[in-house]
Amino acid sequence: MDLTREWIVREAKSAPEDNAFRETIFAQANGYMGMRGTLDEGAPPGAPSEPYFVVQGVFDEQPGRYETDDLVNLPDPLPVELCIGDARLGSKELRVVSSGRRLEMHDGILTRELELEMRDGGRCRLSFERFVSMADRHLIVWRMRLSVSERCGTGSKLPVAPVSEAPVECLLGWGFDANRTNLGTVHFEETGRGVWGQAGLYHVIRTLQSGVTVAQAQVARAYIDGEPAEPDATELVEEGSLLRSQWTTRVASGQKLVIERVNAVCTSRDLDPDGDPLDRAQRKCAEAAAIGFDALAEATRVVWSEKWAAADVGIEGDHLAEKGLRYCLFQLMQACPEHDDRVAIGAKALSGPGYRGHFFWDTEMFMEPFFAHTNPRAARNFSVYRHRTLPESRERAESMSCGGARFPWEGTLTGREQCPTWIELPDGGEERIVTGDQEDHISADVAYGAWHYYATSGDEEFWLRYGLELMVETARFWQSRVERDEEANRFVIRRVMGPDENQKMVDNNAYTNYMAAWNLRVAAEEVAKWQKHPEGRKQLSALAVTAKERAAWERTAAEMYLPQEPSGLIAQQDGFIETAHKPNVGEPLKQADVLMLFRLFPDRFAEEVQQANWDFYEPLTAHGSSLSPSVHACVAARLGRMEQALEYFRTSVAMDLADVNGNTAEGLHAASLGGAWLAAVQGFGGFWLDEAGGVVLRPQLPPTWRRLRYRVQVRGGILHCSITRSQLIVCYDHPGDEALAATVLGERTTLTPGTRHTFATL
Ligand code: BGC
Repeated sequence: MDLTREWIVREAKSAPEDNAFRETIFAQANGYMGMRGTLDEGAPPGAPSEPYFVVQGVFDEQPGRYETDDLVNLPDPLPVELCIGDARLGSKELRVVSSGRRLEMHDGILTRELELEMRDGGRCRLSFERFVSMADRHLIVWRMRLSVSERCGTGSKLPVAPVSEAPVECLLGWGFDANRTNLGTVHFEETGRGVWGQAGLYHVIRTLQSGVTVAQAQVARAYIDGEPAEPDATELVEEGSLLRSQWTTRVASGQKLVIERVNAVCTSRDLDPDGDPLDRAQRKCAEAAAIGFDALAEATRVVWSEKWAAADVGIEGDHLAEKGLRYCLFQLMQACPEHDDRVAIGAKALSGPGYRGHFFWDTEMFMEPFFAHTNPRAARNFSVYRHRTLPESRERAESMSCGGARFPWEGTLTGREQCPTWIELPDGGEERIVTGDQEDHISADVAYGAWHYYATSGDEEFWLRYGLELMVETARFWQSRVERDEEANRFVIRRVMGPDENQKMVDNNAYTNYMAAWNLRVAAEEVAKWQKHPEGRKQLSALAVTAKERAAWERTAAEMYLPQEPSGLIAQQDGFIETAHKPNVGEPLKQADVLMLFRLFPDRFAEEVQQANWDFYEPLTAHGSSLSPSVHACVAARLGRMEQALEYFRTSVAMDLADVNGNTAEGLHAASLGGAWLAAVQGFGGFWLDEAGGVVLRPQLPPTWRRLRYRVQVRGGILHCSITRSQLIVCYDHPGDEALAATVLGERTTLTPGTRHTFATL
């Protein structure tokens, strides 16, 4: 991908074998729905393609042995059939002289431009533009422009027959293709389709198990040389899964045909269900079509410009890293369901079928911080979503003979575990999947996400209503999950899997033990704190938290086995250090595990300890998971290992753009997108919250970077940071003029609002 121009991701040259990868890279979404960057006329013959159009939260069960929920691949409103003259776009008769796509990150518009040569040697210029609206999340807006050269044949290199100056007939078929499954599983039945209004088509489905209705209404309008025009002929085509309106329009040389299309999508699970989904979709579609492409694009641009003002990170001196990071932030913002607290962001965002749209620890541990500091409402929603899933998570804990809540390793709308127990292998065999059973750390991750949002925002209303309960229920889980090792006189956690999924069923995974101890300790502290507060007391008594219970959490946290050898090395699990270097015994780490603790709690571990563990674990890590490089970038930057930090950072920002792990075709790596921001802001930028929620600033730039610039929302204000090799300049704006206490370069400081604070970093 070519990133050389500001704000634009451009297709360098198109290759059919890369088609599915490009579909992911050019994926568009607005948190409500998402679609891949499929070609308007469909994939070239034989090219890999995964058309995918989803609405967040519209899940359906996959029946049978491999039963889990799928985010349903819905009837596709995008594909068109276009014939110019009598040659179809995508066929050999319409020669593509040049073509290219570009995705504008400042407004999310995807543009594709083609120059085509017709059979008679005449040329035409064609462009397609499309976006999903950020201003009205139910809308997809599309436009096609076609102009036929004044003097057909000019520039043709082919020996051709005399060129006709007669108008060219252009046939555009637009509508719906309902032939969509989730990798072969059918998830919906059609409940309605047809014509509405003057020139509209509609399509309605119902998901088979979950019974969600999804209605789509589509309208097109034609213009010749800027004036509304009626097609010369129209025909309704219904062939199997296809419902299309076929428009024929004659375009003379020098004329410009423009067709604008709007597709509105509404479902029975929308939060504003003001009427039947189809009525709503039709109303929205009619209103939007009257507004037109340009004004709809402008409205979406306004929303995007607010988003970028809150989130952009500038890296002077490393153009490629800056653009790569910008792409990560763009895709994160596209994926964010900021309007909805019933869902989170899936491991592949809304960009592909990988992991079936399921939500993982990726949300809390990799994406939440970006949103907590740039769009706090969204971060809040993630924890409210988890709170909604408490009933099934409590049942899960009970089924493990534990108390409290064990969240699902893979979640969808409820707390029911969605991690498959078996998967089918391409050779027909099966593999038992144990991550769902063993990755208990998810419960502490959920608690951490809620705490981090609260510590960032100071949102006490959230904490009392949702956060405290998440904290209490996860502490209860750990309290019942730990075992007493009487001999060693400490609490241990046996039979788990840590973040490094290459190690199954281990005892005392360091990440899990440290996180569980953190969870128990913070729960005990918060209970003590809120007992003194009338509202808090009320809430704690509703949760039936007793003084005895609190004291038990405190003791378990204090007596938890937190591995650390005299050398400073932290064993990833019992016995790990002894076997790690033995030939044929130690398997490489899939991803950061112990190092993950340093990303989260840099102040808790002495620098020598972090350095020693880096030296031990980094060479052992294979980075088979895309979550790994960004953790390494962040930790290395803080440890002053600039060369490695920069290398890992570049890998993280290019994870999808350069298809680092070779599977971007299945969808974006959403955790890596968030991890890239963490590496930039918390790593090089040196901004984080310490364990008590205090603001820390300790930046370090690679030698090649001239300036790093970011802004983060914290405690209701905005902290602007600009860092060069020699200086850190900080400004804090707060609407109520409150000052911010921070530890800047090791010194306790008060950042008074509206003042420019300058610190020497050399
Ligand atoms: C990683 C997990 C991650 C999941 C979804 C796996 O490959 O090992 O840590 O949560 O992918 O991104």
